[in-house]
Amino acid sequence: MKAILKTSRARGASYKDVEVPVINKDELLIRVTAASISPGDLAIHNHAGPGFATPTLPFIFGQEFCGEVVEIGSLAKGFDKGDFVSVESHIFCGVCGQCRNDQRHICQNLRVIGRDVPGGLAEYAAVPARCAWKHTDASLKDIGAIMEPFGSSVHAVLSEDLVGRTVLISGCAPQGLFAAGIAKAAGAKRVVAMDASAYRRKLALRMGADTAIDPSEGGCLAGVSKVCGPEGADAVIEMSGAQKAVALGLKALRPGGRFVAFGLPVSNLSLDYAGDIVKRGLRLEGVAGREIFRSWYKMESLLKSGAVDPRPAITHTFPLKDFKKAFALINSKDKKCGKVMITP
Ligand SMILES: [Zn+2]
Repeated sequence: MKAILKTSRARGASYKDVEVPVINKDELLIRVTAASISPGDLAIHNHAGPGFATPTLPFIFGQEFCGEVVEIGSLAKGFDKGDFVSVESHIFCGVCGQCRNDQRHICQNLRVIGRDVPGGLAEYAAVPARCAWKHTDASLKDIGAIMEPFGSSVHAVLSEDLVGRTVLISGCAPQGLFAAGIAKAAGAKRVVAMDASAYRRKLALRMGADTAIDPSEGGCLAGVSKVCGPEGADAVIEMSGAQKAVALGLKALRPGGRFVAFGLPVSNLSLDYAGDIVKRGLRLEGVAGREIFRSWYKMESLLKSGAVDPRPAITHTFPLKDFKKAFALINSKDKKCGKVMITP
């Protein structure tokens, strides 16, 4: 089969012929119909970036994908050949303290498909059956590959009631774009999107944000106050991890508001911990991944009901062999893309 492999400890990747994976008894073999490029994929491709750790080479990466079940291990129950599935990349152990307390997404022994085991930027992938989400029909087939990142945004936005609230979405890469649509669907009174890219601000408006502001322009905080009220936003969903955006987001939040920390910074941040967090009584919530599988049920409902349409955030699709164009686009300085898809 054809696959995108990391073959050296340097920026870039290779398009190569490799053997189709042999599945274990608890696994499914998936014929990958679509993948989308995640921030984790980008870090592996670039050999740098937030959360990057060098994989054992050669290595097939790709954390977000969907496809058709073509082979079923003897211990993998509940699936039939031909089932359409999306993949949850977090392989949870099922026996640690977090797993046993319904927090599988932060399992103590977590392994990630496409980071710790071979991923989905390939024609076929082997995945544990417990990480496959079986679709009941084909209505989400065109967006099956973005279920996982969409689920992370669902988790980040919906961990608290937003009805009647004002929300600042900080960072309009795909996670932020999804978050804007989800916040609106959740009944937020006003959604303000913030990103330095004019292209992505336009996408945020298409996703449902009421207004979009440029953090690099002066008066950004005044712009948030104008929309959210002088006290600031009720919630900030921070998707960028950028130093300036995090600092700005903390100041844009009203005292007692909720700050959701999702974006990964490249290095440790410098914050006014006492002034901005402690003394203002902020509630800081770290969000990693999706609740397995509570977030998946929520997203299926949001998507199938039409409450959120993530399609405007999907801007480009490339065949597998043209993966270099896809990564070059995401790495480009002007960021004229939303979610970038790959079709094996
Ligand atoms: Zn566990």
